[in-house]
Amino acid sequence: MKRIISVIACVSAAVLALWCAPVAADRRAASIVVPILMYHHVGNWGPSRADWAPWVVLPEDFRAQMDWLVQHGYRTISFRELIECASRGVAPAGKPVIVSFDDGWAAQCGVVRDELMPRGMRATLFVYTGAVGPAPNGSGYVSWQELRELEAAGNEVQSHTVSHARLTDVLPAQLQVEMQESRRKIEAEMHHPVQALAYPFGLHDRAVMQAARAAGYECAVRADADVSVGEPLQFRMPRLRMGYGEGLQRFEECMLGSAVPALTNN
Ligand SMILES: [Zn+2]
Repeated sequence: MKRIISVIACVSAAVLALWCAPVAADRRAASIVVPILMYHHVGNWGPSRADWAPWVVLPEDFRAQMDWLVQHGYRTISFRELIECASRGVAPAGKPVIVSFDDGWAAQCGVVRDELMPRGMRATLFVYTGAVGPAPNGSGYVSWQELRELEAAGNEVQSHTVSHARLTDVLPAQLQVEMQESRRKIEAEMHHPVQALAYPFGLHDRAVMQAARAAGYECAVRADADVSVGEPLQFRMPRLRMGYGEGLQRFEECMLGSAVPALTNN
């Protein structure tokens, strides 16, 4: 089966997103391009924690970025919708974008409720199951109950492994557990298939990508926007990360990036 891989690059040369769409031989191949934004923390404490600074976005910058998406007609979609469209070889309707949050920090619930949902937007939350609590517990991480409430409001939960392990460093047996047990736990708690995986720290290699596929995931995302040609892109989908204090200019440059030629894998 032929796979068509379409890539969009922004003017800063970072690639936004891509998808490998399996298409039947008698159907016209569709290129599906969806920018995927990656967030961790929204707050004003970036400079006080140098190790976290790359993963914090100022509230005013975050609000401006979400407003920009609304004003420019973007529609937030889920990985579920992206995968469903890819399986049919059609592009999601309108101007799709995915807004993703990693790690399952409890504060992300407030960001989704207060900033995304009033704007008619939805989020994908990549959680690692070892951190999620049985009930709101003050641990700093979300609970399954909170995640179920967010999903009932239109958001989705996908996998970020069990323990947030460095997947390129673990033994094959642990790699299998991180992939499979996380998926099993989320499916048991949320009652829907888990299709997407975010690599902790963005770390992945060929063995990790093969393990993700073998564990039943349909795609996986990295923590940067670098894309080099070689491996199937479906299991190393790039994401856009906004930095601390970066205003709208870079965000706009990336979102308005120009397309590069489609790549074809057989
Ligand atoms: Zn993470």
